Amino acid sequence: MRIGRYEVDIFSDGIFRLDGGSMFGIVPKVLWERVKPADERNRVAMDMSCLLIRDGAGHAVVVETGAGTKLTAKQRDIFGIDQPPALLDELGRRGVRPDEVTLVVNTHLHFDHAGGNTYRDGERLVATFPRAAYVFQRLEWQDALTANERTRGSYFDDDYHPLESAGRLELVEGDAELLPGLWVERVSGHTRGTQTVRVTAGADTVFFTSDFLPDRHHLPLPWIPAFDLYPLETLDAKRSLLPRAAEEKWTVAFTHDVPRFGRVTVADGRYRFEEIDTG
Ligand SMILES: [Zn+2]
Repeated sequence: MRIGRYEVDIFSDGIFRLDGGSMFGIVPKVLWERVKPADERNRVAMDMSCLLIRDGAGHAVVVETGAGTKLTAKQRDIFGIDQPPALLDELGRRGVRPDEVTLVVNTHLHFDHAGGNTYRDGERLVATFPRAAYVFQRLEWQDALTANERTRGSYFDDDYHPLESAGRLELVEGDAELLPGLWVERVSGHTRGTQTVRVTAGADTVFFTSDFLPDRHHLPLPWIPAFDLYPLETLDAKRSLLPRAAEEKWTVAFTHDVPRFGRVTVADGRYRFEEIDTG
């Protein structure tokens, strides 16, 4: 879709699966399985959505890089990833080669968002997008490098650490305007250093949620994943961002929903997502 100087595309890197109980936190299974059926291993299937933002002046921004190619067969089995990553094919279909990408934004450094940042070339780990600056929050970088017993299962060093020696890191703190009208904004909750992506032109806004709001099923305020390290901060973020999204008619896209743009509406205190046809 078009917004101001930018063309914004959304596509999926593929499907992965996580434990449904962890995904829906305190919500009883009898409620969540109505909207998201679990498989025989109690997992729910979700897309790993990515954005491509182009301005026609040579900037090509990729937001999220999916799960990448470095996972072991055991990890692919655990996470239910049974297809190769679609990221580079999806970019190619839109006429973008890896060396034409100028910025890569990870909302945070979990493997399902940053896995495609690097790939293995023989013994070496190399940046998938050799000319891009990789943008994430300094806090996220620090927390990923010092993962603990609780967080270790989601952070895989090879996804981001090699970018430092390759000189490709661009660490930001808090809110930052990467290109005119293209903002990353820190939202604590899922992790301390998670950031959302917002493109604004005039009265129009496109908003990419990050995992504080992974899909339309997490619109009800208490539906917060057990994965979130700071669930009450997620709640605060939902309380402040959802009314704005509805009131200002933002075009919203989620990290783990089917890759579609839509509008958040509110009626009787209940938020809903309505897809919009972007052709
Ligand atoms: Zn995620």
